[in-house]
Amino acid sequence: QAKQAGKDRYQLFDIQLEAEIRQKQQSLREITQGLDASEFVLFYQPKINMQTCAFEGAEALIRWQHPERGLLSPAAFLPVTEGHQLELRLGAWVLRQALAQMQAWHDMGFDCPLSINISAQQIQHPEFAQALKTLLDTYPEVPKQMLQLEILETSALADIESVTPILQQCRALGVSLALDDFGTGYSSLAYLKRLPIDCLKIDQSFVRDMLQDSDDLSIIQGILSLARAFHLHVIAEGVETAAHGRQLLQLGCHLGQGYGIARPMPADQLSAWVHNDLPNLCLT
Ligand code: C2E
Ligand code: MG
Ligand code: MG
Ligand code: MG
Repeated sequence: QAKQAGKDRYQLFDIQLEAEIRQKQQSLREITQGLDASEFVLFYQPKINMQTCAFEGAEALIRWQHPERGLLSPAAFLPVTEGHQLELRLGAWVLRQALAQMQAWHDMGFDCPLSINISAQQIQHPEFAQALKTLLDTYPEVPKQMLQLEILETSALADIESVTPILQQCRALGVSLALDDFGTGYSSLAYLKRLPIDCLKIDQSFVRDMLQDSDDLSIIQGILSLARAFHLHVIAEGVETAAHGRQLLQLGCHLGQGYGIARPMPADQLSAWVHNDLPNLCLT
């Protein structure tokens, strides 16, 4: 009888596993269809210098305008694509879309520094830098220094031997590189020294709790000293309130991004935000 129960359990696992696989394949099909139907959009979240109130640029963040489920955030669809061909297809779409947007802004006299999130599979792909070059060549009017690639600290470290030369090739093209969600990946000092990067993005989890949690405050101070030692720029993400902004300024972190400054917005709202809303934000 025990044997039979064990067998039944295995069958149950089989059925569950099969259902999960079918569900995943269904999701991948839907995302592919959404891509073919142009349902994906990029939103843009401003980055500012909190001391001078200068506009520093924006980060492109993908959204899925789903016909039935409404506007979906990346957490609802990016994880499904991980490790699949679709991750690369979506990543290529994001890059193309972002460059086209930079060109459109350039045409209206608004040269906007833009950072783009690059997935682990994208940055580990040996042809990545060549594909980026081809794309940049398509938009010769877009200043290459205005493009920044954000790479997760964890994906840069996952395979540092193969990623480092790719990062070097990207940098040789004139684009800059930031380590995203910095502080969550336990970069050793030796790694930081070797990675050809320009900027550290302090993970929002540290910023969120810095006012209550002295450990988080210390981590931020540590990241700021690292940045100084290695001559890197540093930006804080997740700046939700004026109190966060003031504390960061006191610590010497001038660049910020977060809901307290602006939420991610559609492309056609960004230049109006820079001209109308940013000046008011900084009166206070
Ligand atoms: P990330 O690159 O670290 O982006 C910051 C995320 O925090 C964004 O979430 C942004 O909307 C959100 N955020 C900004 N300010 C605040 C704040 O003050 N408080 C809080 N609680 N959240 C804030 P989003 O757009 O949902 O993106 C989540 C993650 O998905 C991104 O984290 C990035 O890792 C990934 N992602 C987004 N777009 C792309 C993309 O085009 N390609 C790739 N590979 N990944 C992307
Ligand atoms: Mg990012
Ligand atoms: Mg981040
Ligand atoms: Mg993140």
